Amino acid sequence: MKNNCVFCAIAEGEIPSFKVYEDELVLAYLDINPFTKGHTLVIPKVHTAGLVDTPDETLAAVIARVKKVATHLKDALPCDGFNILQNNGEAAGQTVMHVHFHIVPRYGMEELAFANHKGDMAELKALAERIRMNG
Ligand code: AMP
Ligand code: ZN
Repeated sequence: MKNNCVFCAIAEGEIPSFKVYEDELVLAYLDINPFTKGHTLVIPKVHTAGLVDTPDETLAAVIARVKKVATHLKDALPCDGFNILQNNGEAAGQTVMHVHFHIVPRYGMEELAFANHKGDMAELKALAERIRMNG
């Protein structure tokens, strides 16, 4: 596996993902253990571990895609709001050392513990198919 990294393997298509959006620079896919319905991860295709070692141009491209995907999710899910989360280092709860932004959809005034919930693969597949973007 390239860089011994599961997100690189997803970007290379070596392991499957529930894809929501893709272009030449980034990939967005559903988190398999979502905080809430529609929890999506946005990654640059080129590997870096975290925010501080990611080039500014890459970050600029990724955050623009975060905006694009989040804008789409608001209508497509639909959701009422969303949180953007980006963890750096084990101490901050980062478990996959490939820089990524979480888009966590929010519904009504529901409270959120920011905890993963075991995803139902059939549900995630159906949801990704329903909300997938064309570009
Ligand atoms: P973090 O704690 O910021 O490193 O978040 C990593 C996230 O990646 C967690 O929310 C995991 O549920 C998620 N995750 C791990 N492996 C996969 C995978 N193969 N496909 C989709 N999401 C994954
Ligand atoms: Zn990687």
